[in-house]
Amino acid sequence: MLGAMQDWELRVTGLIDHAAREHGDREIVTHWADGTQSRTNWREVRRDALKMVQALRRLGLQPQDRVATLAMNHSRHLVTWYGAPGAGCVLHTINPRLFDDQLGFIINHAEDRVLIYDAAFQPIVDRLRPLCPGIEHYICFDSHEHAPAFDDWIGAEDGEAQWTSGDERDPCMLCYTSGTTGHPKGVLYSHRSNMLHTLAMIGTSCLALEPRSCVLPIVPMFHANNWGMPWGCAATGAKLVYSQVNDPSALCALIEKEQVSHVAGVPTVWFAFLQHLDETGKDMPPIAYAISGGAAFPRSVVERLMRSGVRVGHAWGMTETSPIATVSYEGADWDALSFDEQVDRKCLQGRVVYGSEVRIVSLDDHETLLPHDGTTSGALQVRGHWTIRRYFKTEEDASDEQGWFDTGDVATILPDGSVRLTDRTKDVIKSGGEWISSVELENAAVGHPDVVEAAAIGVAHPKWDERPILIVVPRGGSNVCGEDVREFLRDKVASWWLPDAVELVSSLPHTGTGKISKKDLRVQFKDYTLP
Ligand code: ADP
Repeated sequence: MLGAMQDWELRVTGLIDHAAREHGDREIVTHWADGTQSRTNWREVRRDALKMVQALRRLGLQPQDRVATLAMNHSRHLVTWYGAPGAGCVLHTINPRLFDDQLGFIINHAEDRVLIYDAAFQPIVDRLRPLCPGIEHYICFDSHEHAPAFDDWIGAEDGEAQWTSGDERDPCMLCYTSGTTGHPKGVLYSHRSNMLHTLAMIGTSCLALEPRSCVLPIVPMFHANNWGMPWGCAATGAKLVYSQVNDPSALCALIEKEQVSHVAGVPTVWFAFLQHLDETGKDMPPIAYAISGGAAFPRSVVERLMRSGVRVGHAWGMTETSPIATVSYEGADWDALSFDEQVDRKCLQGRVVYGSEVRIVSLDDHETLLPHDGTTSGALQVRGHWTIRRYFKTEEDASDEQGWFDTGDVATILPDGSVRLTDRTKDVIKSGGEWISSVELENAAVGHPDVVEAAAIGVAHPKWDERPILIVVPRGGSNVCGEDVREFLRDKVASWWLPDAVELVSSLPHTGTGKISKKDLRVQFKDYTLP
């Protein structure tokens, strides 16, 4: 006997149907690069997505064909999130900050048939054309100089169409990881995995979305599913604000004007934001929820936000986990904690939301299960409804028979289930046979009032194998020196963790997703001689 309830396929088009029907007037605002703004709403996004379905069918696209975008955050890009899957196609969001050879590899590997791009990326597209002969159609989101314009392309249709129906396990989106080692690898989300991720992420203990929410995702739409915002906002009827101008003063003005409640960005974005408030003496804009992920959220930033009464959502995840796996939600004992303890909790990467599980195993054999005692650290593994099983077009599963996927992160898990990330497997510094957490060194260093950003890497050492050095960006105008920073760290980390040298630089290299690029730093400091 089976249960006797209705059995709807979990497909993302159900989200936009709901948003248009129940929250049709709720706005989608775009702040364009030229400073102008445009407004649409969920009803119009649905109508435009249906027009795009017709336009794709007219081009001869079949279900499961890949439709790529090379674009920043804006409402037309949002239309493609529903238009491509709505035609049964797979939306492939591409990171324009990758190198040409990576872009060429990704597009050819994905076998993209259509590329829809921002005019700002015309030079990249011109370089890609000879590399990517498989692309049959180019559409430009905001100009018709070199390719048909998106508005004209879908404007030729009437929107009187039906979504392509099918199995909830059909592919829906494709995102490549940045490929810090080897070629980028494709993560192929299904309608079902995206839907279950959406239902979990909107919950109060996760990103807490509701019709009154107004969300500004500073995280790019090509980065890890845009942290699920296009789906979660449709599911709840939240307002979405996209900005192409990401300097903190423009963002502050936008937050006030649109009454943004939720801001989502990587820690560097939050740094810049708080620095701007310091420099201008402005108050924190009245946001309710600051969401950060993608890299460790330093205590100084967390504390500052919390002092201003902002709820902090520190999330951990990766492209392979759709991306949210854990969030620093408030536990049952929250109200009994002191303010400092609450800040400590929010610095942790959080606890799993329903739908995922985590565990740690020994770094040496990746098999021995380790205790969740808050001190033992090991390789972090994850499994769940929206965790990857296998990379796109590979023959072998990326997770084991029980579904455990090795994240490449190193963590301890506290008895209450909180995850504390201590490093990435390839970033830990191995000194005298013991592990030094580069992340903890960095977190401690940015607690110094004159340190804006810090990165710790290991450099070769004849006796200890590796020793840590710290590369630091000092606050403009300060005359802090390397020795000051070392002194500052002395009572904050174990003595043998103290970096052998602290180098001051004017800026650190960042990856396409705004994280400090340790890979570039290691190349830069390859021949570094320790004092
Ligand atoms: P990549 O950084 O390789 O492009 P992702 O964007 O998928 O890939 O990033 C996933 C990685 O980012 C995680 O494996 C982890 O190392 C790091 N990360 C994500 N969230 C956090 C966090 N809250 N704290 C520390 N590191 C994080």
